[in-house]
Amino acid sequence: MRSSTGVGRSCEIYRLDPEKPDRRAVERAAETIKRGGLVAFPTETVYGLGADALNPRAAARIFEVKGRPPDNPLIVHVSSLRMARLVAAEIPERALKLVEKLWPGPLTVVLPKSPEVPSVVTAGLGTVAVRMPAHRVALEMIEAAGRPVAAPSANPSGRPSPTSGEHVVRDLDCRVDVILDAGETFFGVESTIVDLTRTPPVLLRPGPIPVEVLEKLLGERVVVPPEARGLRASERPLAPGMKYRHYAPETPLILIDGDPRAVERVIEAAVREAVKARGMRFALAGPDELVDTVASMLLRRGAKPAWIFRLGPLYDTTVAARRLFKTLRRIDEVGAVDVAIILPFPERGIGLAVMNRLRKAASRRVEA
Ligand code: AMP
Ligand code: MG
Repeated sequence: MRSSTGVGRSCEIYRLDPEKPDRRAVERAAETIKRGGLVAFPTETVYGLGADALNPRAAARIFEVKGRPPDNPLIVHVSSLRMARLVAAEIPERALKLVEKLWPGPLTVVLPKSPEVPSVVTAGLGTVAVRMPAHRVALEMIEAAGRPVAAPSANPSGRPSPTSGEHVVRDLDCRVDVILDAGETFFGVESTIVDLTRTPPVLLRPGPIPVEVLEKLLGERVVVPPEARGLRASERPLAPGMKYRHYAPETPLILIDGDPRAVERVIEAAVREAVKARGMRFALAGPDELVDTVASMLLRRGAKPAWIFRLGPLYDTTVAARRLFKTLRRIDEVGAVDVAIILPFPERGIGLAVMNRLRKAASRRVEA
């Protein structure tokens, strides 16, 4: 149950059953939060790196461990609506419409901040991002700590997010006090973020809750700026954190971008890139159907991918979401891959989140 690793460092690692987490481990994590320590914990989206959201010194350590720029604010995790009312100055009617239906769940709402929240957490903004995670371990830990927990994803800034306890152990190398490992996360991509301080509301980051669901519950249009699709970072970022490159493995990624239903153009662009890369060892990743067609096309041209990663069916992007970050990590781990060519998914439902992450991770985009 309890172990420690790390070069000259030690930490407590607990392996937990996500359905029936060991009470003592959760208590231990909660105590660590209360005394200003850091805990890596599972949520239904990705693993979080958490600290007491009301303790500025504890929250500052998150930035230190992640190497996160101080102008990129953290999401505050709560276990009850009462706790959300502590960190937000108000929860307007419009926010209630969403959270009553979608919490606990992978939705983060940006609201006016209460003075309780130290400015290091919100990067000096007058707003705060709040979410109630749908994971027993996360909820029980926050509840036991009795205070909101600020947590970004538990990876070094800029790298692919952790979707398993193993990723966290490797990434953090005992630079935190406690790691709660409950296996693989459910969705595999980070929460949907919607800014409710603007009218109409603005989607800041696509995630597991589709925009269409938000619009239906709100009864109003939600703006999806190009930045939320992972396109064109504007001069002045719409939301903090948007200007940074994210989710990127070491291996350069070339994203073939366009409507995957225009299969011919996608294939042509992919083949053009792959043939250019012929002298190099390249990997091919994307929707199952496209990957198979492109791979056989390439073979006929004498260009053979060193590795092929099937991310999941074209029309069930929940599978690709779940495998995305693990695959980006695998591309680095298999070794000696000079470049990876990634084929596109449709931007519907969670597919929008998949394409947002891929565009931000890509070193180059090729329009098909
Ligand atoms: P991470 O948890 O590391 O995946 O990132 C948290 C995301 O939440 C970042 O993209 C932040 O920009 C966003 N965020 C956190 N607080 C706010 C806020 N007050 N306003 C807008 N975006 C926020
Ligand atoms: Mg992150």
